[in-house]
Amino acid sequence: VPAAPAGYKSGFVGIVGRPNVGKSTLMNQLVGQKIAITSPVSQTTRNRLRGILTTPEAQIIFVDTPGIHKPHHQLGKVLVQNARTAIQSVDVVLFVVDGSVESGGGDRYIVEILSNCKVPVILGMNKLDEQPSDCVLIDRTYEQIVNPEWPVVKFSALTGEGVESLQQLLIEHLEVGPYYYPPDLVTDQPERFIMGELIREQILLLTREEVPHSVAIAIDIVQEEAKITRILATIHVERDSQKGILIGKSGSMLKSIGSAAREQIQKLIEGKVYLELFVKVQPKWRQSRTRLAELGYRV
Ligand code: GDP
Ligand code: MG
Repeated sequence: VPAAPAGYKSGFVGIVGRPNVGKSTLMNQLVGQKIAITSPVSQTTRNRLRGILTTPEAQIIFVDTPGIHKPHHQLGKVLVQNARTAIQSVDVVLFVVDGSVESGGGDRYIVEILSNCKVPVILGMNKLDEQPSDCVLIDRTYEQIVNPEWPVVKFSALTGEGVESLQQLLIEHLEVGPYYYPPDLVTDQPERFIMGELIREQILLLTREEVPHSVAIAIDIVQEEAKITRILATIHVERDSQKGILIGKSGSMLKSIGSAAREQIQKLIEGKVYLELFVKVQPKWRQSRTRLAELGYRV
């Protein structure tokens, strides 16, 4: 890692918020590349993922946390604990809310957690593109629950509107510091992890509600050849019925997932990909910390 110029700023920004407010979309917008998968299904983000933005003035490392919500099973507990830890180890917390709707219990739960936070908190109101014209009423519901000292910034992670101002505000809150990562890096995760996520994203998009929460992807083989990269991956599910849904009528669902994921992975690695998917039933993997660890989750 090269030495940073004099007066250079750097630091870690934790992105927190309830599921589906657009945290992952924002991180992708900020770093300018799709590193975090997004979807209308909640709990898309499982692992802690860092996004790195390097500008001439500053290096900001974004920590995309799983949405904070009250946990119901072992995976949920691991996710919430990871989010709590993330808050304690950053320089600034960006609390993202869905500015197109009124605040709710999920937001209050997070404000409660943030009330003990020792670092600056910024309230980021996302989905500006969907804010109705009478947004004053919506804004008031957030004013009522947050700390009035927190700076507020509005933006759209989807269109990019206002994201530049957000970036400037974050830099103002950072201290002088080194490059933590090489300036050309956009994420701390290996390519294999992102590949698995891109497969999981297609499952979230293409299958029914009951399947998505029960999948974990293992990238078994990545073999780079002269003109093509061959990838073998296994989709782990909990029940035979889920395996059936994923495979579909004469393999049609798995085929759709595979070809959509292949497109995404081709963009990621900027080359041709051959992708083969397998489905394996692994009962109760969500309940087992050992299995979670084996599948790559930080437990
Ligand atoms: P996360 O759970 O907080 O990480 O949320 P995601 O980034 O996965 O986004 C959840 C959903 O909200 C996705 O369907 C996104 O496309 C959508 N979304 C995110 N940001 C915006 C935005 O600024 N405007 C609109 N209209 N939709 C957004
Ligand atoms: Mg997310």
